[in-house]
Amino acid sequence: MAYFGLLIIVLLHKIPFNSLVAHHASMAGEIEAAIQSVVSKNWFVQGSEVKAFEQELANTSGTRYAIGTGNGLDALTFALLSIGVGPGDEVIVPAHTYIATWLAVSRTGAKPVPVEPEIVSMNLDSSLIRTAITGKTKAILPVHLYGQACDMTSIVSVAAEHELVIIEDNAQALGSTWEGKPTGSWGMVNATSFYPTKNLGAMGDGGAITTDDEDIAMTCWQLCNYGFVEKNVAVRLGYNSRLDEIQAAILRVKRKYFSKMIDMRRDIATMYVARLSDIGDLILPVETPGAFHTYHLFALRTNYRDQLKEYLAHHGIETQVHYPVPPHLQQAYSYLDLTQGCFPVSEKIATTALSLPIWPGMTETQITEVCDVIRLFFNRHL
Ligand SMILES: *Cc1c(COP(=O)(O)O)cnc(C)c1O
Repeated sequence: MAYFGLLIIVLLHKIPFNSLVAHHASMAGEIEAAIQSVVSKNWFVQGSEVKAFEQELANTSGTRYAIGTGNGLDALTFALLSIGVGPGDEVIVPAHTYIATWLAVSRTGAKPVPVEPEIVSMNLDSSLIRTAITGKTKAILPVHLYGQACDMTSIVSVAAEHELVIIEDNAQALGSTWEGKPTGSWGMVNATSFYPTKNLGAMGDGGAITTDDEDIAMTCWQLCNYGFVEKNVAVRLGYNSRLDEIQAAILRVKRKYFSKMIDMRRDIATMYVARLSDIGDLILPVETPGAFHTYHLFALRTNYRDQLKEYLAHHGIETQVHYPVPPHLQQAYSYLDLTQGCFPVSEKIATTALSLPIWPGMTETQITEVCDVIRLFFNRHL
């Protein structure tokens, strides 16, 4: 009978992996006014909204400078270029990450050198970094995956020991901290993304670079703007990749509710953990001591990942896998000759990780529903 009732509930309303509807509805008037104000000012690129947003972002990131870019991949690429990474250099990257981390390194002409994740946090295993360092290593590029900070204390100490630069990929972790200090403020220069589903999302593409270094900030600004130091004076081969005024205006509205949104993500994660802690072989996310986790994603692990994903889908619950194919096994990286078995921890995560729905405004009823269906799967099928 309970099962029948549950069936009716799930048939009535599907649970998407992510939904921005409730989030945007809660501030719809303000967002519309912000867009209208840009239209009225009739100024769409490199104006006062971007300037104001960059200042606000620098303040929350605890850095002197923030520079808006067209997207997170460009932000990361320019961050690497700004410290002189290029052909012949090696950059240490996590074996388990979104491919954009590796692509940014490749775009500069440098070679991504992967290091295995640590299985509990699924973040870069700092104890293995030393084994990957060669005479060509220039930088370490840690990724705060799923919204949880890497162990920056250890990474800073390895980097100092070998005179390497740190560049953080903070695309998934805006608002997170390590030992109380914001992610995106540890590296010499760092990058984040405002892709719509990220912790702070625009209504289109966007990204930013954060740094304390004035010269690096200037270089990044030039890279975003054709290499110009001033109008029509080009000092380097630049690009065109800028945050635009409408996106900046939207981000400024959303920023006001940012900490509330992070609280919501954390509350959802707490409810998931409470309801799923005793089920099957599930391995739930664990918060690393020292890390303030913002739960961009709620990624659990199970050996029955594919069956569970399919079962949830049949019950109207959408989940995702971050990420089913590690970068080293992508065709794009076949030239590195890193075959199956090269990074077993990363490959294990690729076959066992499953991300559950999580978004600001997701209701407790929906969370309970997801958990009930997961429990049902393990009760009936194992
Ligand atoms: C989203 C993301 C990026 C790229 O950001 P875009 O704005 O989509 O280009 C880079 N690294 C990681 C870890 C990401 O999750």
